[in-house]
Amino acid sequence: MRMRISQKVLLAMLGVTIVSLGIFSFLMITSTGQILQQNITGRIQGMAESSVQNLVDLVDRSGRTLHSIAATIDVAAVLAAEENGDPAATVAALQRLETTFLQFQRLDSSLQAIRLVNNAGQEIVKIREGKILPRSGEDIPGLDLKTIGSIEDRSFFQHTMELPEGETWISNLERGWTEGGLYWCPAMVRFSTPLFYSDGRRAGALIINVWGATLGAKINSLITADQGQAFLIERNTTNPERNGIYLFSQDSTCEFGNQTGSHINVFQHYPETITTQWMENDEGVISTPDSRDLLAYTFYSPYNDDSRGWVVVVEAHKKYFMLPLVAIKQQILISTVLVLIFAALVAGFFSRSITRPIQTVIDGTHCISHDLSCRIPLRSHDEIGTLTSEINRMAMNLQSNLEEKERIEEQIHNSEKLASIGEMASGLAHELNTPLGNIRALSSLARQDLQNGTLNQETLGQDFSDIIDQIDKSSKIISGLLSFARRQASEKTLCDINQLVEHSLDLTRIKSTNHNIQISFTPSDNLPLIKIDQNQIQQVFVNILLNAIDAIGHNGFITAATAFHNGQIAIKFSDNGSGIAPENLNRIFDPFFTTKEVGKGTGLGLSVSYGIVKNHGGTIEVDSTIGTGTNFTVFLSAGE
Ligand code: ADP
Repeated sequence: MRMRISQKVLLAMLGVTIVSLGIFSFLMITSTGQILQQNITGRIQGMAESSVQNLVDLVDRSGRTLHSIAATIDVAAVLAAEENGDPAATVAALQRLETTFLQFQRLDSSLQAIRLVNNAGQEIVKIREGKILPRSGEDIPGLDLKTIGSIEDRSFFQHTMELPEGETWISNLERGWTEGGLYWCPAMVRFSTPLFYSDGRRAGALIINVWGATLGAKINSLITADQGQAFLIERNTTNPERNGIYLFSQDSTCEFGNQTGSHINVFQHYPETITTQWMENDEGVISTPDSRDLLAYTFYSPYNDDSRGWVVVVEAHKKYFMLPLVAIKQQILISTVLVLIFAALVAGFFSRSITRPIQTVIDGTHCISHDLSCRIPLRSHDEIGTLTSEINRMAMNLQSNLEEKERIEEQIHNSEKLASIGEMASGLAHELNTPLGNIRALSSLARQDLQNGTLNQETLGQDFSDIIDQIDKSSKIISGLLSFARRQASEKTLCDINQLVEHSLDLTRIKSTNHNIQISFTPSDNLPLIKIDQNQIQQVFVNILLNAIDAIGHNGFITAATAFHNGQIAIKFSDNGSGIAPENLNRIFDPFFTTKEVGKGTGLGLSVSYGIVKNHGGTIEVDSTIGTGTNFTVFLSAGE
């Protein structure tokens, strides 16, 4: 495929630009992607950690609240009255405690319920959600008061009753039943601590229920649904029923699968590679196997137990955190298009500034190839400028060489012509002698008649007519020769070839007559006029004829004929001379090739003739048989 320089420059420029832009874009996109990933990793890790901190705070605060209530004088008064066996004081203290519990709950909205339980698991004081619960249970032994309910067989109570003084039992996070068991109330966790009489005997337990809903709301608001999701799950490797359940999730139907009976857990939603990490490690960031999402998790155990606790998970969708990358890609695409357009414009300008001077050089060289006097009009100081001045210098040298060659050719023409004239001149002198002798004789006779007085008018008239004939004959011979010998500037004029052949035959007739050679001419009567340099073409004909005479020697014949065929005029000269040896046939047009004796031939005749005919756009053909004769045919194009 041939390509122009401008196309190559354009291609190179675009190629370099596209490759560099490709590398740049690739690096830009991958590094931005990495930065974004690192950034989001840090952010979701931070979210998970701060969320766990909320859990820690809740647990700490709830523990402190529990122990603050346990340390109130109203609790101490109940215990003291019981210990003293004073039923009236005990009842009064219990009633006071109800009010105290209500005040605590009013101060701390995260408290759902507060209750005091005796040694037997009977709820002897209980307030819930701002209300004192009715005493509709069994009688409290030794008191004129009923219990609210019994939690004797609840495991958190039993565990609490085994704890030493000052310790806290924290229950599982779970949903409670509302009154009447109509619906699940929001998740909560129970904090309990054992109470002791002053003599060290166990008196019962203080229990608070803490709402988990605020925690859930905080976790759920960590990240919006389109960005991802956050949830709290339970790690409980010793209890398969609870292990992996959702404690808080944006989809609340997933929560507490163990209690609601849905049995939904994280193992159903996430592959084992991920859930294993949640169940074994403290914290980390993992991506889903299809790498669509990033998951940060942090474990916290309020029970100080690695096998049991809560795991906060923050999941970020890749399409969300990679969103800036889409904008960057768009911007890169737009800038790529702009850079490509700019590169194409620069390449176009650059290639034009290169190709324009080259085109000038091409045009100039084209002009020089037709006319050596042409010069390339370019003035620039770069390599193309140097090339231009070299080409111009070369053209100048060629032109002066050509002029020199033309001058030498002209000289050769003339010397060859002189040689032809010389050849004809010897016969001419002889030819002129006869009419001159005749003129002399006629003039002498006339003078004699005049002297003798025998001058006859009629005879004198006849003599004068003869003398004029002889003079005409002589001047015709001389003028023919003179016109042949005249140096003329090359000029092409319309010419009748038949006439030119006649003139050439006239010029050589003297010599041929002297050599007793018969000349005949058969002109074609349908020749068109053609534009030629008559002087030069006549030189060609004369040269062919003189060579024919030389080849015949004495006694022979030369025939000339013209014809017009296929737009060409053919002028054929035939002789019955010695013929040309086959080995010389392709040498006769060489300059200085002659078979004639020294002083007779120059060897230039045919080479000059060849040059003249060629300059006229014609050709010369020769065929010859040794001992039989030679035919020279000159072909000239009638269109010339
Ligand atoms: P010159 O006549 O001075 O030798 P030319 O170039 O005119 O130079 O001719 C070259 C040679 O071609 C002649 O020497 C001759 O040998 C040969 N030649 C040309 N015309 C004829 C012819 N009609 N018959 C035989 N030989 C010829």
